[in-house]
This record gives sequence, C-alpha cells and structure tokens, in this order.
Amino acid sequence: MDTAPREIAIVSAGLAGVSAAEELRREGFEGPIHLVGAEKHSPYDRPPLSKQILAGTWGLDRADLRTEQEYADLDLTWHQNTAATEFRPRDWCLSLDSGYDLRCDGLIIATGVRAREITSERPAGVHVLRTLDDALALRDDLVQSSHLVVIGAGVLGLEAAGSARRMGLDVTVLEAAPAAMTRTLGNALGALLCNIHTDEGVAVRFGVDGLSFRAAGGRVDAVTLPDGSVIPADVVLVAAGAIPNIEWLRSSGVALGNGVLANEFNEAFPKVFAAGDVCEWDHVGYGRRLRLEHRNNAAEQGRSAARNLLGRNEPFTPTPYFWTDHYDHKIQAYGLVGGTADMVVVEGELQARAFVAIFVADSTVIGAVSCNMARELRPYRQLASQRAPWTGAVSVQR
Ligand SMILES: Cc1cc2nc3c(=O)[nH]c(=O)nc-3n(C[C@H](O)[C@H](O)[C@H](O)COP(=O)(O)OP(=O)(O)OC[C@H]3O[C@@H](n4cnc5c(N)ncnc54)[C@H](O)[C@@H]3O)c2cc1C
Repeated sequence: MDTAPREIAIVSAGLAGVSAAEELRREGFEGPIHLVGAEKHSPYDRPPLSKQILAGTWGLDRADLRTEQEYADLDLTWHQNTAATEFRPRDWCLSLDSGYDLRCDGLIIATGVRAREITSERPAGVHVLRTLDDALALRDDLVQSSHLVVIGAGVLGLEAAGSARRMGLDVTVLEAAPAAMTRTLGNALGALLCNIHTDEGVAVRFGVDGLSFRAAGGRVDAVTLPDGSVIPADVVLVAAGAIPNIEWLRSSGVALGNGVLANEFNEAFPKVFAAGDVCEWDHVGYGRRLRLEHRNNAAEQGRSAARNLLGRNEPFTPTPYFWTDHYDHKIQAYGLVGGTADMVVVEGELQARAFVAIFVADSTVIGAVSCNMARELRPYRQLASQRAPWTGAVSVQR
C-alpha cells in the first residue's frame, strides 16, 4: 500500500517550516506544498532581532531567510498572514482563519513559541521580543529613551540589554530567580554572563518577583517592586520565557504537553510531524525528551520531519547547538549544558573570559561550551557528540 503523502501542509513560515519545505523538494516530493504562516512578513531569522536588528547595525533584508527566487524555485502555495485555527485528522482538514479549509494528507507542525506575558495588559512602552514587529517597536522606543528595564536575565533578555547598552541607554535587569540561567547554562556560566553585563554598566538584581508597572498617561514610567522600591523606566522589555503555540491543536487528538509531543521520528500522529521550538520529542541518543529553542535545531528538525514524513524513519538524534552574543563575547554550546552537570574548564580561564569547558554527568561528557575560543572548542564538541567517557584527564585529538 502506498502511504506516501500526495499533498502536504506545513503550518509555519518560520525556519523549521521553510527548512522542511526545502527538504521535501530535495527528497523529490513533487506534490503541492502549502506553507501556512501567521505573520505578514516573508520568513526571517530571529537571532538578529535581539542583536543587530535591535541595535540598528543591520538592515532588515539581512534577516531574510531566503530570496524570492529561492521560494519561487520551491513552488510553494503560500498562505501568508494566515493562521491555522483547527486540524481535523479524521477528514484531513486544516481550517485557516481566512475561512479556507485546506485538505492535505501529510502535515508538519512548526508553529514555534510566543513570548510569555507577565501581566494581562501591557502599558505603552512595555515590550516583548519574539517577532520582527516586536524588535522594530522596541527599537523605536529605545532610540527615544534613556533607561531600559529588562525583566528576565535569560540569554534573550541579556542580549537585548547589551544592544541597548551599546545604544547608550542605562539598563537594569531584574531576575526573579536567585541566579541567572541555572538550567540553560549552569550557575558558573550564568554568573559569568551577568558579570560581563555588569562590567558594561548594566545593573542586575536577583530575587525580584511580584513586580508591577507604573504608568503615567498610559505609558510606563517605572517598575515597582513588592518592597515598595521604584525603578524608573522609559521602556521595559519582558523577557520571561516563551509558550509553545499549540492552542489551535487542542481538539485535534495530536498529543500536547509543553509543546507538540512527538516520538523519536518527530511524529506526533500518523503522518503528522512536528519540528522546531514547538516540538518536544524523544531523543533516543540521550534517552530523554527534549524541546529546544535553538536556531540550528529548528533547521535540522524541520529537515528531519520532512524526510520522515516521506517514509525515511530516521530517529532524530542531533547534538544540540546554540550560540549567544554579548558585546564582543561569543558563547557557543554543544550537547547538553547547564543543569546539575559538573562543569570542567579544559582550556583557557573562566576569569579571562576565554575558555572551553565541558559538562560531565555520570562520568560522561554530555556537553561542551566555549567563550571566545571557537576553534579550541572543536575537539570537545566531538567528545560531547560521542558522549565520551570522562576520566578526569584532558586528552583530545586536534
Ligand atoms: C530574539 C531572538 C533571538 C534569538 N537568538 C538566538 C541565538 O542567538 N542562537 C540560537 O541558537 N537561537 C536563537 N533564537 C532562537 C531561534 O530563533 C529559534 O529557535 C527559531 O527561530 C525557531 O524556529 P521555528 O521555526 O521553530 O519557530 P519560529 O521561528 O517561531 O516560527 C514559527 C512561525 O509559526 C507561526 N505560527 C504560529 N502559530 C501559527 C498558526 N496557528 N498558524 C500559522 N502560523 C503560525 C509564527 O507566527 C511563526 O512565524 C533566538 C530567538 C529570538 C526570538
């Protein structure tokens, strides 16, 4: 029986969705591909939004994911500025907010995440940062402001803090937890990143929870803390994490949790695959479930979902990778970093802010990270990919 899909819908015009469409064509799929994307812009890259686009050092076109010609070559049916509102697998119908019911027999879900809000309403001057429109609105406010308050000392909040500092603003970062990025980078790296920012003049405060916005004439003018203290702010960025965009799938029968729940092939339902930030899947290499909000993962998982939808049946077992930029410091991380794993510096020095460190759990190298030492990271990245045993001695092939 031929079970290969004949008409495929991809819900998302983000990186994972575009990568999936490209892979379908590369693999020889000749049927119609529908790309359904809620945003009005052509697909763009998000990492520059907190860096070059926010700081104003890049024109907008540099964030484009592909050229018009590259999209034309893919021969896609675009449903731009259109959201999927429901999926009914029984009759393979995808309802769109344009009123159109799209029929398909293969689906890739890559709807990403949205910024988590901390209040039901945001006064003018209070922003989130997930989309190009968010970045442009925030930048518009930053160029007219002198004091930014960032709520959340995660990588995104700190990157934005750095961009604003470079623009000459005073910046205060407020973090609810007692330390920064414990889960994502570990205490030592989280502290290092915060120190990089405090050295640049950013004020970072921990254990600040239960804050609210003070507004004058409908526009924020301060953040108030439960102890009564008031932090003046012309502009505020709420960078308090993200929520997977899965509500439209609630009645579909597709397994949902903190994302779309997929198996090791990224399959969430027969002939329904998921990819990118929205997808929590079974990483059989690590023997655990992962949902990653990393650029590389979105591209790789989009391609993997496309191949598996066409019947390849390859488990998706990548070595995760992400990078983050703060002023002139570049951090790159492979594998599993942070959490409770032990961090061992194997090259350079933490204090010098030029080092490579590995993360070790159960005597196995599970991750590797570098700060300003990309070249030196390479062999350790291999150790992390291979999940090599760690004996305590540094022995790497260069
Ligand atoms: C400001 C910022 C900076 C970042 N910096 C880095 C970095 O330095 N390094 C790194 O590794 N990663 C970084 N990331 C993360 C990286 O950009 C993401 O992991 C990546 O964009 C995820 O791609 P995606 O395709 O899964 O989701 P997205 O890019 O979020 O795309 C999902 C798309 O689906 C659309 N959508 C949602 N619901 C629906 C619906 N119902 N119907 C139709 N369309 C829908 C959304 O509008 C969106 O356009 C950053 C992210 C942000 C926001």
